[in-house]
Amino acid sequence: MSQRSRFNVVRGPFGGKALVVGEISGIKIGLDRTWVIVLALVVYSLRANFLAEHPDWSGGLALGSALTTSLLFFTSILLHELGHSLVSNALGLPVRSITLFIFGGVAALSREPDRPRDEFLIAIAGPAVSAVLAVLFTAAAGFIPGDPLAFQVLGVICAWIGTINFILVVFNAIPGFPLDGGRVFRSFIWAVSGSYTAATRVASVGGGLFAALLISVGLYGSFAGGRPSLNGLWPILLGLFLLRTAVVSYIMLPRMYEARTLARAKAQALARHRFESAQRAAAAEAMAGARGAEEISREEHLGEDGLRDPAV
Ligand SMILES: [Zn+2]
Repeated sequence: MSQRSRFNVVRGPFGGKALVVGEISGIKIGLDRTWVIVLALVVYSLRANFLAEHPDWSGGLALGSALTTSLLFFTSILLHELGHSLVSNALGLPVRSITLFIFGGVAALSREPDRPRDEFLIAIAGPAVSAVLAVLFTAAAGFIPGDPLAFQVLGVICAWIGTINFILVVFNAIPGFPLDGGRVFRSFIWAVSGSYTAATRVASVGGGLFAALLISVGLYGSFAGGRPSLNGLWPILLGLFLLRTAVVSYIMLPRMYEARTLARAKAQALARHRFESAQRAAAAEAMAGARGAEEISREEHLGEDGLRDPAV
């Protein structure tokens, strides 16, 4: 595999190759295979919802509205991730890609932030975009008249997108890593304690607890009725995904950070060593040059009259 093609491949959160559909500010936009599942589920449930709430809508209108709402929903997630990514790029931590997958979107940061302040700014940028979208779409829904039908449909779609973005903000306010709220939480502990490792561990425990809560809610939803059902499947799957990420973050991130800090210290020591050696070499060269110049001048002096005292 050539360097170039390896660089062009975008991998989803599960390691699979994502379909690259575009590029914004040098950031590749990828669709993971699992995204198709969530797209189908969202379209299906929105269509059912629209038909239940608006019995006068035709099946085609409900489906078309569901598709439009779904695409705007995923565009909202993409804009949320772009918020994180553009701030990250501006802070010198380049983002290679954004991938939409079954549980939303993920921006692939080239590495973890170096400072709590950077972590905070990158983490808050996504929910800030969602908050703006929530306000804009909810306001638009309030202004659009309910008549005629075309306006009604537009109003319903705007209200949904407003609500979905509001849910994104609330969900990402939960102080559990890897959610945005968990990253903000981590940046605070990091700033106060000065320890990246301690901050990551505390925030990851928060993430693990929230994941356990999601799984419990899902299990309750699936088994509370006496007969097992698929009602709680979504929270269970999302909870398992978050739990896995929280556990991996708890173990791996401090290790990676320490390795990077060590590598950086080594590189600095090496650079210092090289600088000092270069300085020594330059000094030696200057000295040799001075000696050489002295010798030349002696020769010149000698050449001038051949009688001059060579010690001058
Ligand atoms: Zn986010």
